Amino acid sequence: MTETEVQRQKEIQQAEELLFAGPQALGFAKGLFQGHFVSDWVMPYPRIPPAQQTELDKTLAELREFLDAKLDPVAVDREADIPREVIDGLGRVGVLGMTAPKGFGGCGFTQMANCKVLEEIGSRCGSTSVFVNAHHSIGIRALILFGTNEQKQTWLPKLVTGEWLGAFALTEKEAGSDAANVQMHARPSEDGSHFILNGEKRYITNAAIARVLTVMARTPVPGSDKTAITAFLVTPDMPGFEMLEPRMPKMGIRGTATGRFALRDVKVPKENILGPPGKGLKVALTVLDFGRTTFGACCTGAAKTCLRLATQHANTRKQFNKTLGNFHLVKKKIARMAADAYAMEAMTTMTASLIDRGLEDYMLETAMLKVFTTERLWEAINDAFQIHGGSAYFVDLPLERMVRDARINQIGEGSNEVLTSFIALVGMRGPGMEFKEIYDTMLKPSRAGIGRAWTAGMHRLGATVRIPDVPVRSAELKSFANQLGRLIWRFNFAVNRALIAYREPILDLQLVQERIAGAAMDLFASTCVLSRLDAETQFGQRNGESPASKNYAAELFLRQSFRRIRGFLAGLSDNDDKALLAAANLVLG
Ligand SMILES: Cc1cc2nc3c(=O)[nH]c(=O)nc-3n(C[C@H](O)[C@H](O)[C@H](O)COP(=O)(O)OP(=O)(O)OC[C@H]3O[C@@H](n4cnc5c(N)ncnc54)[C@H](O)[C@@H]3O)c2cc1C
Repeated sequence: MTETEVQRQKEIQQAEELLFAGPQALGFAKGLFQGHFVSDWVMPYPRIPPAQQTELDKTLAELREFLDAKLDPVAVDREADIPREVIDGLGRVGVLGMTAPKGFGGCGFTQMANCKVLEEIGSRCGSTSVFVNAHHSIGIRALILFGTNEQKQTWLPKLVTGEWLGAFALTEKEAGSDAANVQMHARPSEDGSHFILNGEKRYITNAAIARVLTVMARTPVPGSDKTAITAFLVTPDMPGFEMLEPRMPKMGIRGTATGRFALRDVKVPKENILGPPGKGLKVALTVLDFGRTTFGACCTGAAKTCLRLATQHANTRKQFNKTLGNFHLVKKKIARMAADAYAMEAMTTMTASLIDRGLEDYMLETAMLKVFTTERLWEAINDAFQIHGGSAYFVDLPLERMVRDARINQIGEGSNEVLTSFIALVGMRGPGMEFKEIYDTMLKPSRAGIGRAWTAGMHRLGATVRIPDVPVRSAELKSFANQLGRLIWRFNFAVNRALIAYREPILDLQLVQERIAGAAMDLFASTCVLSRLDAETQFGQRNGESPASKNYAAELFLRQSFRRIRGFLAGLSDNDDKALLAAANLVLG
């Protein structure tokens, strides 16, 4: 086998390990790739149950009061530190254990409610939101999800109050985007009582301030010469834990402590293994799914801040004897920001609700949320910056800090390129398998094969003849719903065509993948917006609101999103890919 084939086999094996095996309910995003609109997951728009809403409102009020009084984002950035007083306060409000079970001292909030909390923090300070994410969304997540009762008893109570802080350590020099390539290794001791860990981790948020780190290391697979990743709970007081660089100086989210550490013959008791041995990659990616949801919430908060700042400025700054808001090129930016902020919130709420309602596999939706919201926020910050002109460049306004803080979002927790490719490939896997069934049977007919191929063929055919129904309740939204249904149908058609045209080489065709993923993300975003708008329209009608309270931002989002989807699909056949690749290859040599 060539090196490329070996790598491909490795990737396929990893993907098989990760993708949830066995029958399960069809998720919304996977449904899109099959030409279905799985309405049960997305309609009606999810709501936080009234009892929890009361609790959430109380928490948010307390949080706002605390942040108003104690959180100074300028000082956090300048001093490159989040004061302990702030961390303690967040702990008191419950933020550091928001979704942890009440039995272990947490607040027992749903992911939806937790996202509202993170949106509030994200609207104020990028450093603080990343700190909270590193501690709660990913740092202690593996413990909450995969810990035994005993492990939770031992570790959680102090972590949920913030007395101890948590961190999540996956990244290494060799394992960045290629997260499965972890080199840190863990050798079992002869008596089997513990593992001996060796290796280095870098770019780890909270590493230097954490008392408990979830560390991914490679362990031998018993009875074979293979290794697999296992998750361990490591504490910095273990002999051999060496902090190489506690706070790597950096451009943005400067208040967070991003560290580099080594483990040299660190003995970790076997009781500290989280989840099944050898299943650490799945543990890590499940943890990151939660992180990506709160990423969406933080980006939504920051985008709302951009909108607020841009609107204030556009309404007050005068040039050519007019306030800036009079100029259409400024209006264009403000309208797009409002539309995108509405969509980001809807998509975050929906994705969080999928987790809360027990969808088994939400990897696609969380990946879509992460890519979509981080890209939209980047654009919003850029627009708000542009509206502010030269004033944005100076440190007395928050925008230059927001630019620096937001730049990590497109890189961290899975770079947007890697996730874009992931969305396309995982999404196309279902229909791709069905085509494979048909193709293999054509080459080698067998009785069982023909039966399976027939079923697969019927699925594919069914999706191509039927335009999915998008069941909105508000008559005035039917036209949008019909357009969305047609676009899903066209999308499915395009996916089928790409799979037939390219077959296995599609695995490497990232420009094709990008268009498919782009269309899928906008289909999901539009669905979330339509669902939210439908719920709000219904609510408005029940409360006798006038049609003047029409939500233009949401409607604008749908129009722009549909236009983008049409553009992505058209680009599948009308593009400059060959010229682009030739130009890049020439430069790269
Ligand atoms: C401030 C900060 C905090 C962090 N906190 C944590 C943490 O708490 N825990 C943790 O484990 N990690 C953390 N990270 C690490 C972060 O998750 C990684 O930086 C990220 O996964 C990317 O890895 P890399 O930096 O090695 O980039 P690389 O893997 O070298 O990738 C560089 C770029 O190459 C491109 N690229 C890579 N692979 C592909 C591909 N297959 N297809 C197309 N393009 C590709 C992408 O554009 C990517 O951005 C943090 C990083 C930073 C900067």
